[in-house]
Amino acid sequence: MGRVRRSILAAALVFAACGGESPHDLVITGGRVIDPESGLDAVRSVGISDGRIATVSESPLAGATVVDATGLVVAPGFIDLHVHGQTPELYDLQAMDGVTTSLELEVGAGDVNEWYAEHDGVPARINYGVSVGHIPTRMAVLDDPGEFLPSGSAANGAATEQQIAEMERRLQAGLDQGAVAVGLGWAYTPAATADEIARVMGVAGRNGAAAHIHIGGSGFADARASLMGAMEAARRGGAALHVVHMNSSGAGMAMEMLDTIRAAQGRGRDVTTEAYPYEAGMTRIESALFDDWEAWEPERYARHMWVATGERLTRASFGRYRAEGGEVIIFTNPPELVREIASHPLTMVASDGFMLDGRGHPRTSGTFARVLGRYVREAGSLTLAEAIAKMTLMPARRLEGRVPGMANKGRIREGADADVVVFDPERIIDRADYMNPAVPSEGMHVVLVGGIPVVRDGRLVDGAAPGRAVRAPTGSGES
Ligand SMILES: [Zn+2]
Repeated sequence: MGRVRRSILAAALVFAACGGESPHDLVITGGRVIDPESGLDAVRSVGISDGRIATVSESPLAGATVVDATGLVVAPGFIDLHVHGQTPELYDLQAMDGVTTSLELEVGAGDVNEWYAEHDGVPARINYGVSVGHIPTRMAVLDDPGEFLPSGSAANGAATEQQIAEMERRLQAGLDQGAVAVGLGWAYTPAATADEIARVMGVAGRNGAAAHIHIGGSGFADARASLMGAMEAARRGGAALHVVHMNSSGAGMAMEMLDTIRAAQGRGRDVTTEAYPYEAGMTRIESALFDDWEAWEPERYARHMWVATGERLTRASFGRYRAEGGEVIIFTNPPELVREIASHPLTMVASDGFMLDGRGHPRTSGTFARVLGRYVREAGSLTLAEAIAKMTLMPARRLEGRVPGMANKGRIREGADADVVVFDPERIIDRADYMNPAVPSEGMHVVLVGGIPVVRDGRLVDGAAPGRAVRAPTGSGES
């Protein structure tokens, strides 16, 4: 009732002002609008109707709801290509960090239809989607007992020709079901040969899907050689390649590896990458990454933190927890290097977020605000517009060849999806740390998903769940 009357009143005002157009559902007025596609960076009013951006205007607009964004930045909602934690609790933390689309593209799903069916059944605050994953597929085909990541045959067992053909069949099925990409974690499946990886890349290539890979595998001398190996497999398979977390995979070689990627792009190769802004990574202690743990120098154990208790590890406790299985945080990179990698023009921002029962890695809660607060504002190592492009337009473009709907995300322009963030560039900051990773970021005033506020006045809106599945067109096979 009140809403109808307000609309009539607003309509009357608009009729008076602009001669007949109906008012928008929502208007964001007075904010500094940054659109990385057009390069727009100016004060504008944004009119939103039916879940889309209807107008970006220099003149005032009328709306049923008006958000005053004076002094604030208005940008496309952030698209995170790498999020393992796909639960309502984590969507809340991601929304407070400005994320409007959360995608699990590295590990991915073995059964894509089942993954979407499970998620479609639960109201979601933000948009979500998944790749079909080589890791879960290899675990199913080789009967690995591991939880989430391989710890047995899928890590260390060679696959027969028949098993590789079965993996190809399952990956194709996942793509037919609308998987957004193909995920790989060669570091977690070191027994997979270059031929097997190239076959997986072939499935991605034939379907216009990018291969999102955690580089590694056996027989590579160092991180750069692993990158070259992944690029060669992608070339053989005709797939676009996206290298996940350059910060943790590249570490001390990351800057050199970014040069390698830039040179490949110069030769016309479709290779992209991402990073998260933290000195530490996190993974499962029983995974194949640590198969050589018994041979480490004593001080190396102390660089590992057991997530469940927060304790730093020793040789004895590392062995005990590895037998038990669970999440471990690994401190690897100096802060300056991480800042340099995450500020590099080629790296998209992606969190690799995951948390369980409030314990995990702070990147889950703070990745985007951390880049905006610490790297843009405090260190000045990149501009606000550059940072926003790495969070919005670049990830949208990575996916839009396979998911046409992504061409309407990551932009502030007429006709784009109204996934929009409004934040205070002077206050935006991450608050989560390694001991308290579930603390939301500060400085987001409003977050819209499909035009619906999921954060308002810096707080989650109770019950707001406009999130939709992001999914490639289904059933067509080749695209
Ligand atoms: Zn990951």
